[in-house]
Amino acid sequence: MNALINDIEIIKAKTTKINDVDFDNLTFGKILTDHMLECDFKDGKWQAPKVVPYQPITLDPSAKIFHYGQSVFEGMKAYKDANDTVWLFRPLDNFKRLNISSKRLAIPELPEDYFMNGLKALLKVDSDWIPRNEGSSLYIRPFVFASGKGFHASPADEYKFIIACAPSGSYFSGKVKVLIEEKYSRSANGGVGFAKAGGNYAGQFYPTQLAIEKGYQQVIWTDDNTHEYIEEAGAMNIFIRINDTLITGPTSDRILDGITRKSIIELAQSKGIPVEVRKITVSEVVEAAKNGSLKEMFGAGTAAVVSPISGFGYKNEDYDIPEMEDTYASFLKKHITDIQTNKSEDPFGWRY
Ligand code: PMP
Repeated sequence: MNALINDIEIIKAKTTKINDVDFDNLTFGKILTDHMLECDFKDGKWQAPKVVPYQPITLDPSAKIFHYGQSVFEGMKAYKDANDTVWLFRPLDNFKRLNISSKRLAIPELPEDYFMNGLKALLKVDSDWIPRNEGSSLYIRPFVFASGKGFHASPADEYKFIIACAPSGSYFSGKVKVLIEEKYSRSANGGVGFAKAGGNYAGQFYPTQLAIEKGYQQVIWTDDNTHEYIEEAGAMNIFIRINDTLITGPTSDRILDGITRKSIIELAQSKGIPVEVRKITVSEVVEAAKNGSLKEMFGAGTAAVVSPISGFGYKNEDYDIPEMEDTYASFLKKHITDIQTNKSEDPFGWRY
């Protein structure tokens, strides 16, 4: 009989890879822990999840994930505080968003206890892998994909839900220069931009490669219709500071409802920073860059938390954002990470 944690069956790995890991020099998402959570959908329902040794999975070449890209994922982090207590940040929001994504991709939704108890059991088994170092955390990747067979272009009858974890350092190093996109789009009205569907990211790679060839590190996505409205920064939500006001676009079919985004909005408001959730045009940002009222731009997402932007390119012109002290970006990043890592009070009840 295998051990049980929170009613989840645990099959332990016979050996560990942890002694080969240099926790002082972690990159992002390259080293995977010893275990993973695995759960199958078959015979019309989700079967009990199990924690199993991290290992390759075998799929039929006709599995629908390969042909029709029926897959969704999440990204979240676990942190260890000075007392070795493990914390998650708003994990139920990741669970809910995974199901919102699944529904849009015609993937069966997961029961909450399979996700939450499965995640907690996995983190208990792999708790030694959760880094304690400043700036590091355990990046958690829950994902669901169509494992069912057949070339018919219709939803699969079998799926796999897996959670895999990677101890990680910071995602970006330093400020990024971005290119405001005038041709390609990552999403459209009625589309899947609000979902964390695998294909959304594949579609971003080529335009991002073109931007990198031109000397930028990221693309700023604009609306697919007019390319006039600023929507997201790579795989992050975007914030723009004009004078003292922090502006971000409203979520929609085209913009992911980021957990960092909504936390930043609430936190900034609670600290007396004026926040506007409204559409913002490229012309407004270009104008602000020209007249000096553009103070900051930054991406917001789980991986980097806050990723400051040093300048942007648009219609063959480059615009720099002058360096300044006491940025909203560093103030908000510190407050969020202090809450995440249990270094400060959590008046919002975000820590779990
Ligand atoms: N936008 C996109 C397209 C993303 O993939 C992500 C990362 N999940 C975000 C925004 C940020 O969301 P979150 O703060 O929940 O990580």
